[in-house]
Amino acid sequence: MPSKTWKCFRCNLSFKNEELAKIHKEITSHSITITKSMIV
Ligand SMILES: [Zn+2]
Repeated sequence: MPSKTWKCFRCNLSFKNEELAKIHKEITSHSITITKSMIV
């Protein structure tokens, strides 16, 4: 089962959990996109 990944396309960064993505979003005001990762 694929897990969710939060990605910032502006930085080309991926986050494994929502907390990190939220922190990044608050700091940078970048928009985060939820993607499904096939990587375990
Ligand atoms: Zn960013």
